[in-house]
Amino acid sequence: PLLHWTASTGPVDGHGTMILVVTDRAPLLRADQARRDFVANISHELKTPIGAVSILAEAVEGAADDPDGVRHFAGRMQAETARLSALVTQVIDLSRLQSDEPLLRAEPVAAREVLDDAVHRADELAHRREVAIVVRCQKGLEVMGDAALLTDAVANLVQNAIVYSAPRARVSVSARSQGDRVEIAVSDNGIGIAEKDLDRIFERFYRVDYARSRDNGGTGLGLSLVKHIARVHGGAVDVWSKLGQGSTFTLRLPVRTAPSPTGEAPTDST
Ligand code: ADP
Repeated sequence: PLLHWTASTGPVDGHGTMILVVTDRAPLLRADQARRDFVANISHELKTPIGAVSILAEAVEGAADDPDGVRHFAGRMQAETARLSALVTQVIDLSRLQSDEPLLRAEPVAAREVLDDAVHRADELAHRREVAIVVRCQKGLEVMGDAALLTDAVANLVQNAIVYSAPRARVSVSARSQGDRVEIAVSDNGIGIAEKDLDRIFERFYRVDYARSRDNGGTGLGLSLVKHIARVHGGAVDVWSKLGQGSTFTLRLPVRTAPSPTGEAPTDST
């Protein structure tokens, strides 16, 4: 039952009043269902590459006399295990971000460094797809946060921008300050996202095109991770997109406020 009630029978306050406590269990049941769905999804996502590796191992055995065949199947095994490894890493990262433990080491981080490290991580993919990445960053801009997590978030956005663009496209990555926020934007002129999918792409395992995501080594967890990383920084991520035109993902994060002349961090004078 969604509503659970407990009652104290008999006079409880000396005036014969009965206390009835009604608890709405719907949120608890929803959380429980979400957890079960997540586990079911992970199991499915793990089984697919494990099954593929097993079949590919048999194929390698069968192709023992054919070096090209062995190379081909071995390459596919490597791709499947890379996907498997990315999936496990992302699931662990997500569960850490969702737990209550404070994991944020908020330090001043140079925005330029975050962008450069993220782009560097996508170098190989960009090279393979001949996609050019243009980086623009406001000079001296610093963001408060955890450098490793911020780099993960931007790298995920850059990798998506490359994967969901046409070969030889251009992706732009930029950072600028906007009031008390740093805005990091990753833009592409790729396939874009239909309006009906825009709300859902930040959900765990949601993909607009499962086959395309899978072929590119996607796990369906990238944007969910980006959203959680933004949140633990007290920031947010949003998206503008038009089908067939492209997408811009914008991370808004706390800017590093300049130290006061005394060298102390400024405090509120209320
Ligand atoms: P995936 O591993 O599938 O890329 P994500 O969580 O990173 O998972 O993204 C979820 C889905 O959102 C993708 O499968 C894709 O359909 C869509 N998507 C993400 N980024 C872009 C983009 N830059 N352009 C078009 N579609 C995108």
